[in-house]
Amino acid sequence: MIMGETRHTRLLIIGSGPAGYTAAVYGARAMLNPLLVQGIQPGGQLTITTEVENWPGDSEVQGPALMERMEAHARAMGAEVIADHVATLDLSARPFRAEADSGTTMTADAVILATGAQAKWLGLPSEEKFKGFGVSACATCDGFFYRGREVVVIGGGNTAVEEALFLTNFASKVTLIHRRDSLRAEKILQDRLFRHPKIAVLWNHGVEEVLGDADPLGVTAVRVRDVMSGAVSDVPCAGFFVAIGHAPASELVQGQVEMHHGNYVKVKPGGTETSVPGVFAAGDLTDHVYRQAVTSAGMGCMAALDAERWLAEQASQPAPAEPQPMG
Ligand code: FAD
Ligand code: NAP
Repeated sequence: MIMGETRHTRLLIIGSGPAGYTAAVYGARAMLNPLLVQGIQPGGQLTITTEVENWPGDSEVQGPALMERMEAHARAMGAEVIADHVATLDLSARPFRAEADSGTTMTADAVILATGAQAKWLGLPSEEKFKGFGVSACATCDGFFYRGREVVVIGGGNTAVEEALFLTNFASKVTLIHRRDSLRAEKILQDRLFRHPKIAVLWNHGVEEVLGDADPLGVTAVRVRDVMSGAVSDVPCAGFFVAIGHAPASELVQGQVEMHHGNYVKVKPGGTETSVPGVFAAGDLTDHVYRQAVTSAGMGCMAALDAERWLAEQASQPAPAEPQPMG
């Protein structure tokens, strides 16, 4: 697209995870010529993982490769995929209006929100200080830097366990710290974790501070507190990986569509309609329960079908009468 231009589309899809690309496949096949804006993470969350073992049809596939296939599929069906990021979105009037970072303006008859979720952080000042210098939320991106070093992962879900397992490829020791005495990760992953000789689990502990050197900036340990006894101790590490879950990326539509449960976009039960007619939402942005690639893809399909139906209804309604001159 040309910088500063204005484009109109029947269907604008925001986000390039499984929800966005699936919506694009269905939208293109419905001849809606959808425009999909990828955002700063083309391919979404699965691009920061390695093996995906629960995508139907593939007993094992690499996350980035799966997302490349989805993008190619969307393009092959006729969707236009744009490497840009939507900076603002105005849903107060139709056509809806999106301004992208490149300076392009996009207007759309219908919008599918598929902006997914982003990693949560502990919110510690020391975590902020060492981000990119020993503190990370992505083992696949940064694990390589910790070859032969000790690392700590915090969290008890699938992400934390997968990150810990992945880090064993590089680190000499991985300590998983969890605030309770049981994990919420899938049993198959727990089993792999407990059997791994390089992994130790520190139960019932929270991280209070990231400790490190100033010159060069780098992590040396995390200060932990036993949630039962209150005892404080330090766990030495060169890398600290935060894997405490994800929050919906709903800032773009804050105050414009109804939300619930920690800013997840609310959709009609069993559907994808948001509180604004013509605006649909799919995937992790809406889902605080399942948050899987396959459920996001399923919702992307539903959103495109809902959008197609809604657009057809609009087209079949009589055009508003031209204003008549008074008197
Ligand atoms: P996401 O994948 O989160 O994609 C969101 C998209 O929106 C991104 O492309 C982003 O660039 C875009 N975006 C955001 N804001 C804007 C904006 N303003 N303008 C334009 N674009 C924007 N699930 C599984 O089923 N199996 C697994 O093995 C698995 N492994 C995982 C491993 C990790 C490390 C993580 C973090 C998650 C994993 N998940 C897994 C969960 C799965 O990745 C998500 O459920 C799924 O990716 C959600 O898809 P989505 O399309 O809703 O959004
Ligand atoms: P999650 O399931 O929400 O787990 C977050 C974990 O972090 C929980 O164990 C939670 O503890 C802990 N936690 C939350 N806030 C914390 C804090 N402030 N301090 C310390 N610990 C904190 O998140 P996730 O693991 O990122 O998974 C998100 C979704 O993606 C899930 O639906 C998951 O199934 C999916 N996913 C799937 C796969 C896969 O299928 N292989 C892989 C990765 C992710 P509590 O347990 O005490 O609440």
